[in-house]
Amino acid sequence: MAKTPMMEQYLAIKAQYPDSILFYRLGDFYEMFFEDAKTASRELELTLTGRDCGEAERAPMCGVPFHSAEGYIGKLVNRGYKVVICEQVEDPATAKGLVKRDVVRIVTPGTVMGDNLPSESKNNYLASICIDGGAIAVAFCDISTGDMSATSFEGAGCVDRLINELGAYAPAEVIMNIPRYDVPSLSIFLDDRLHAFVTDSLKDHYTSVTVSDKLGTRVSPDIISRIEETKIIARTVSALLTYIADTQKTEFSYVKSLNLYSEGQFLEMDVSTRRNLELVETMRSKEKRGSLLGVLDRTHTSMGARLLRKWIEQPLVNTYYIERRLNAVEELTRDEILRGELTELLRSVLDLERLTGKLVYGTANSRDLVAVATTLAQLPRIRELICEAKSDELSDIYHELDELGDIYGLIRCSIVDEPPFSVREGGIIKDGFHSEVDRLRELLSGGTGRLAAIESRERERTGIAKLKVSYNKVFGYYIEVSRVNAHLVPDDYIRKQTLTNSERYITPELKELEGEVLSAKDRLVALEYQLFTEIRCRVADQVARVQETARVLAETDVLCSFAYSAEKNRYVCPEMDLSDVIDIKEGRHPVVEQMLRDSYFVPNDAYLDCGEHRAHVITGPNMAGKSTYMRQVALIVIMAQCGSFVPAADARIGICDKVFTRVGASDDLSTGRSTFMVEMNEVAEILKNATSRSLLILDEIGRGTSTYDGMAIARAVLEHAASKKLLGAKTLFATHYHELCDMEGSVSGVRNYSVVVKKNGDEIVFIKKIVPGGVQKSYGIEVAGLAGLPESVIRRAKKILREIESEGHVQEKPRSQPDPLGQITLGGMAGGDIIEELKTIDPNVLTPIEAMGKL
Ligand code: ATP
Repeated sequence: MAKTPMMEQYLAIKAQYPDSILFYRLGDFYEMFFEDAKTASRELELTLTGRDCGEAERAPMCGVPFHSAEGYIGKLVNRGYKVVICEQVEDPATAKGLVKRDVVRIVTPGTVMGDNLPSESKNNYLASICIDGGAIAVAFCDISTGDMSATSFEGAGCVDRLINELGAYAPAEVIMNIPRYDVPSLSIFLDDRLHAFVTDSLKDHYTSVTVSDKLGTRVSPDIISRIEETKIIARTVSALLTYIADTQKTEFSYVKSLNLYSEGQFLEMDVSTRRNLELVETMRSKEKRGSLLGVLDRTHTSMGARLLRKWIEQPLVNTYYIERRLNAVEELTRDEILRGELTELLRSVLDLERLTGKLVYGTANSRDLVAVATTLAQLPRIRELICEAKSDELSDIYHELDELGDIYGLIRCSIVDEPPFSVREGGIIKDGFHSEVDRLRELLSGGTGRLAAIESRERERTGIAKLKVSYNKVFGYYIEVSRVNAHLVPDDYIRKQTLTNSERYITPELKELEGEVLSAKDRLVALEYQLFTEIRCRVADQVARVQETARVLAETDVLCSFAYSAEKNRYVCPEMDLSDVIDIKEGRHPVVEQMLRDSYFVPNDAYLDCGEHRAHVITGPNMAGKSTYMRQVALIVIMAQCGSFVPAADARIGICDKVFTRVGASDDLSTGRSTFMVEMNEVAEILKNATSRSLLILDEIGRGTSTYDGMAIARAVLEHAASKKLLGAKTLFATHYHELCDMEGSVSGVRNYSVVVKKNGDEIVFIKKIVPGGVQKSYGIEVAGLAGLPESVIRRAKKILREIESEGHVQEKPRSQPDPLGQITLGGMAGGDIIEELKTIDPNVLTPIEAMGKL
């Protein structure tokens, strides 16, 4: 059997998009067929039906109404599918034969727009990667805001650098020139960590070194020439633009800002460091709550929320720019009235960046224009407030904040205050804006007036008091008379319909009026739509100015948010310099201190430099607070370099170029790497990439293998990190290998620190205080007991430990420094009352708090 013509058309279009779900417009529905229908019915819970396609078996089919399609498209895209929208491109009423159809848009995870974007407070990036020989370039673009960044690197380690960049931007979609499996570490990262939608081997996209032909006229020539300056970047951006054009089916004229950055412009962090430090999301729940961003985000606009996330992902390394931010935060912290009023105004600022995106793409409706105007209405007052600001950053914001009065005026005088949702049904344009609109409206209302006049005249003429002039879609205007009065109608009435109790008539006069009114209505609706699109276009033409305003508003919001957090959480302004010193007095962990509702966070000092205090060996019991302490030092450095105040009594931060952490255990079964292998890989990367200006946080290196191997590795790693000749980076190194305390005095730059456990009568209390000097005991068995290990196991463990110690495998060593806080020793504990006391504890019935108290 031959296929139906429609099915032939469908299959021809589908053949061009084998990897996508094709939404094929049929009347008021988008239909999907065959495998697409099965997938969509499963993912969207739609009923699967069938359709005759001219073959023996019916084609599986399911569909969604076109007016509610966006939600379904969004769902599919957010689940990692590509959706191709195929529309009827001619009017079915006038088409001869099969209606012509064409693909008008392809929606992918990195190119979604409008309501389908996954989050307001997060940029949605599409990344383009070009790998050629020893060089790599990567470009990122958020097409909903026009944000674009690009960078390139060469030589050894450039794949790692690429992975770090991808970790910072977390793109939803990636395109690349070569097959991803050619670079195994990248492919594992893309598929298993980033879970990005990847299209690779797009070789042909990456040949052109010009971009001007792919950008619309609204993009500044300066941006174009900067992109075209470096060949590999030009190829990467060109591929990105080609891909956007292929999916959006329109030129891309929405590059707001181009950030061409190079190595050393931002504080470098690798992917596991970002994860370990929980900068923008927690390790477990992947949510903002519980992360540094969760504590710092007090922004009031989506633009501000996105910018803050970016600042945290990309802390600065240039003191000048950091100080500009800090000074502005200081001013906003001091001037509470200014901050309070600004914050109040920012609450009414809508997402100008994404609204402008919709304007440029022509998807904005009249309500979006009113939303733009609502935001612009706040600008004069915001500007007036910042006018007096002293700090350079705020003064620049004052000068860069374009009030956009012309755009505000245009929207306010042309669009009604509460326009309808649809832009094709009229009711958008204000009276007095356009003379023809006014004329048609008058005609229409006059038309209604004339109807009333005809009704009363005809009542008088016929003497039928209840004669009515009405309208319906079938007959247009008609006169209705009740049956009993039908004999009174004049001859010029033409009968059109007989109902049970009445008769309906038309007259030549009514027909003429009907023609006039209806055509006026059609003309009015068409004219209003035309005027609306013209206004939208006029605003879109000013996109660069609107984007600049959006940028400074976002920045104002972030600075106010920093100031608010600083005041609320008692942060101080860090002193930034180019020294090699990190000197933190009474530092606190910004997230943990928020979590401790009923207890007090114990502040701790930290002093690191590139001289005698390069590497700290931190020992102390389990649960004492070592990890918290080390992370807090890293977080304070990161916060300071973002331009935020920091949780401390005082802080002096010599700028770091990179922060690395190696914390916790995780295996990576997908790559066949064991826990120990992952740990060693990460340590290797750190030692390879760190410099003497870096900060290293190494938590229990070497614990994943046998004690002696682990200890040997730990010592060797620390020696390497501390050695001025080899690396000499500032290093915090927590360990339970107490033998490493011997390094103080014998290896230059190494210092011992420990977390104090205080003996309070018969009780041991964790007081979370870091003091100089090492300790010899981890109290691991005691903590294991508190954690609920059976008493018999704990008793046995202690016995084994005593045996090992008496056999001399592990020897007690004198402390390197006297314990200033009366910390108890193993010897002191072994035979004492505490053991007896511990024996009476039933860990199965203790709550964690009681357990801590007992300990
Ligand atoms: P382990 O060696 O078992 O990994 P640790 O010494 O690294 O333990 P942490 O995980 O840092 O210990 O801290 C244990 C708990 O103590 C944390 O969950 C935190 O709630 C609390 N804590 C840590 N530091 C402090 C502090 N300075 N003030 C108050 N509470 C703290």
